[in-house]
Amino acid sequence: MNYRIAKNAASLSPSLTLAIDAKAKQLKAEGQDVVGFGAGEPDFDTPQHIKDAAVQALAEGFTKYTPSSGTLELRQAVAEKFQKDNGLTYSPSQIVISCGGKHSCFNAIMATCQEGDEVLIPAPYWVSYPEMVKLAGATPVVLPTTDATGFKLTPEQLAEAITPKTRLLILNSPSNPTGAVYTPEELKAIGDVCVEKGILIMSDEIYEKLVYDDARHVSVASFSEAHYRHTIIVHGLAKAYAMTGWRIGFMAAPEPIAKAVGAIQSHSTSNPTSFAQKGAVAALLGPQDHLPRWIEEFNKRRTYALERLNAMPGISCVPAKGAFYLFPNIGKLGLSSTEFCSRLLEEEKVAAVPGVAFGADDCIRISYATSMANLAKGLDRMEQFVRRLAR
Ligand code: PLP
Repeated sequence: MNYRIAKNAASLSPSLTLAIDAKAKQLKAEGQDVVGFGAGEPDFDTPQHIKDAAVQALAEGFTKYTPSSGTLELRQAVAEKFQKDNGLTYSPSQIVISCGGKHSCFNAIMATCQEGDEVLIPAPYWVSYPEMVKLAGATPVVLPTTDATGFKLTPEQLAEAITPKTRLLILNSPSNPTGAVYTPEELKAIGDVCVEKGILIMSDEIYEKLVYDDARHVSVASFSEAHYRHTIIVHGLAKAYAMTGWRIGFMAAPEPIAKAVGAIQSHSTSNPTSFAQKGAVAALLGPQDHLPRWIEEFNKRRTYALERLNAMPGISCVPAKGAFYLFPNIGKLGLSSTEFCSRLLEEEKVAAVPGVAFGADDCIRISYATSMANLAKGLDRMEQFVRRLAR
C-alpha cells in the first residue's frame, strides 16, 4: 500500500508547543522534578457556576445535536458580550460557535483564503496560523517584528507588504507568544491600511481580558463601520474562564463569511458539544468576579518574572502587558532557541518553548500560568543555566 499523504497535510509541522508540553508531562510522570513554563492554559480551575450549568444540562438531557453553528442562546450571549465589552453590534446570524478558538481561526481561514492568496502574518506569531493558511492552499507571508518595536507591526511595514494577492492580515492582540498589546492608536492605524487597501483582518482576541498596567484591549472592528466590515473576530472561552478542555470558541463576522463558516462546520464537526455550550452561556452571562483576582495574580507573576529575567546576564525581556507569556531575547547567549530549550530541559529540568516555533529564533517563550513557587523555582534554575552559558 502506498500511504501517500496529501500535499497540504504533508507540509504541516506538528505543533511544537504541544510537543514540549507533552515532553515535560512525560518527564514528570517518570518522577522527574520538571518545572513547566510551556503551558498555554491558565493554572486556575473553571469557575464552579460554569461547571454547574454543564452538569445541570447533562442531568436535564441536553445531550442531542444542537444547530451546527451553536445554540441561539449561546450566540445571543456572545452578541451581548460584544455589545457590552466592545460596543459592537452583531446579530446571532453573524456568530458561529466552534470547537475552540483554534477551530474558529481554522474555519475563518478556510472560508476566506484559497490558492493564489497571500496571508500576512506578523512574527512572532501563534504557531498554528501559518499551518492553517497552508492547509487552505494559500501562502503565508511572514512580517518580522523585533523587541525593538515591542514586537508590533507598523502601518508602514504592513503597507509595504501588501500585493494584489493579499487577502487577509492576521492580528493577535494581546499576543501569544510575545504578550504584546497594541494601543488603540496603533491598532487603528493598522486597520486603516487594511480598509484602504480592501484587505480582510482576522483579529484573534482570545486574550482580550488578560491585560495589565495601563494596557487596554480594543477591537479593531470597533473603529468605524468600515473597520467592522473588514474584520472577522475570533475568540473563545479558554483563557479568561480557564475552559481550555471544554473546546468552545466563537467568531463574529460579516454575514456572508459567517454563513460560509457555518456551512464548513455543518460538513465537518457539526455543533460543538451541547452541554459545553450551556457552560459557555453561564460563563458569558454569569458573575465575572474571578477575573480581577486572576488578573491580579497573573500580574504579580508577570512583574516578578520580568524583573528576574532582565537581571540575568545576556537576557533582555520586553515588559509585555498582556496574555500570560513573556518572550525574552536569548540571542546574546550564542545558542539557537531549540538548543537553548533542549539544554534547559535536560540540564535544569525547566520546560520553555523555543522561539523558532513562533518565527523568532533569538527568543524563548515563558508562560507564567503557573504558581509563584514554580515560577521562582524555574527562574532560579534558568538563572544558573544562563550564568553557566555566559561565563
Ligand atoms: N489563539 C491564540 C492566540 C491562542 O494562543 C490559542 C490557544 O493557545 C487559541 C487561539 C486557541 O484556543 P482554544 O482553541 O483552546 O480556544
